[in-house]
Amino acid sequence: MSRITRREFGKVVGAGGASAIAISGLPAFAIAQRTPKVVIVGGGAGGATVAHYVRKDAPNIDVTLIEANSTYSSSFFSNLYIGGIRSLESLDHGYARLRNHRIKVVHDRATDVDAVGKTVRTLSGTNFSYDRLVLSPGIDIKYDSVPGYSREAAALFPHAYNTDRAQKQLLKRQLEAMPDGGVVLMVMPNNPFRCPPGPYERACMIAHYLKTRKPRSKLVILDPKKAFSKQPVFTEAFDKYYKDIIELNLSTEIDDFTVVRLDGKAREAETKAGRKVRFDVANIIPQQRAGEIAVRAGCAEKDWCPINAENFSSKNVKDVYVLGDASIAAEMPKSAFSANSQAKAVAEDILAELAGKERFPARYHNTCWSLLAPDDAVKIGATYAPKDGKLDPSGSFVSQKGEDAGLRKQNYAESIGWYANIIADMFPATPSRVSKG
Ligand SMILES: Cc1cc2nc3c(=O)[nH]c(=O)nc-3n(C[C@H](O)[C@H](O)[C@H](O)COP(=O)(O)OP(=O)(O)OC[C@H]3O[C@@H](n4cnc5c(N)ncnc54)[C@H](O)[C@@H]3O)c2cc1C
Repeated sequence: MSRITRREFGKVVGAGGASAIAISGLPAFAIAQRTPKVVIVGGGAGGATVAHYVRKDAPNIDVTLIEANSTYSSSFFSNLYIGGIRSLESLDHGYARLRNHRIKVVHDRATDVDAVGKTVRTLSGTNFSYDRLVLSPGIDIKYDSVPGYSREAAALFPHAYNTDRAQKQLLKRQLEAMPDGGVVLMVMPNNPFRCPPGPYERACMIAHYLKTRKPRSKLVILDPKKAFSKQPVFTEAFDKYYKDIIELNLSTEIDDFTVVRLDGKAREAETKAGRKVRFDVANIIPQQRAGEIAVRAGCAEKDWCPINAENFSSKNVKDVYVLGDASIAAEMPKSAFSANSQAKAVAEDILAELAGKERFPARYHNTCWSLLAPDDAVKIGATYAPKDGKLDPSGSFVSQKGEDAGLRKQNYAESIGWYANIIADMFPATPSRVSKG
């Protein structure tokens, strides 16, 4: 039998089904009887976007999205909820729209991957077979990275740093319940972690809340790092807006503000440098790692998953992609913008492999906006291209100190537009019915 090109294969699939054709890695007979199957684990910024883009361009590929929660509560923009600028409900997004695009959405937890048999197993005991598997499970929290912290302790001292809606609500309610004059503690993580400017935007939003509702209160930050993302504009904002509220303790060669003891009963944290902080409310943001399912699939090395820069396929497991926060994307920060951009390259690669579509050289983009105070937002970003197995940044930009208020207000408007756009890309509107007459 002559080997058919991927493009020709795409025409056959596009015309209504698979045929006895060879495609990458699969013998012809393997898919002769059935439609190619793509299984995606994680319906967040990365996974939902992959589902949308594979379905959009190859209606005859079978797309299954396995997502643990029935509602996605976005981490991005959750700081604005903490600051009282946005509602918790505005972060909620359901999966009906993806179902309307004939994506099979299964609300279950993926518990194991058999990379040889090419199946994913879920908590309910169902097995899903795949031709290509996409993992975008985001992060798991390393609770024990802060001595004294634990999964149980998070119910008292929230991290509020993943898609768990209750964590965000807990932090907000604790701030609301705290008397004026109280102390809020923030424990910052070491690199690498989800959304490098995220904890500092949160500091601004907590401080904004305190300034407007409980002005005698304090926010003490203990940071194991010596520097952080967009530091000049953040520290300028701490000074400009929150001088009497925020106390930033960045580590130095002499003073190490890594927390070595968290005493929940005494409500006290102690640092390596010996500083003790008594608190009323604590927001502990521990170290993180790739979501457990990526580890179980064999994709992780240490905490994160190495990938091939040109398509985010796993370096360790064949026919599996890992994108978003779980991946090691070199200099590309762990952000929703990054995950959404990576998702399009993943979808394109899958479409090239399974539907014979054209493959273009990947180019990824990231922009992260942070709100410092109402109408004052800053941003950082770059474009990335695969080069020598890495992601080479170009066109980098970052907000500067002393920028005028108009520019900052425009940044904020841009960020609002971005949120609406990424949500529409993850959860696209229902296609309008094509009339038959
Ligand atoms: C406070 C904060 C502010 C942020 N602000 C921004 C911002 O302004 N801009 C920006 O670009 N990014 C921001 N981010 C980062 C952004 O949220 C993440 O980078 C992005 O969501 C990563 O996408 P993902 O697909 O990797 O993971 P997620 O979006 O977290 O999605 C992972 C999904 O996988 C599901 N899942 C995990 N394991 C399983 C399993 N075994 N089975 C089934 N389902 C599973 C989870 O339930 C979840 O829905 C922020 C993050 C935080 C915490």
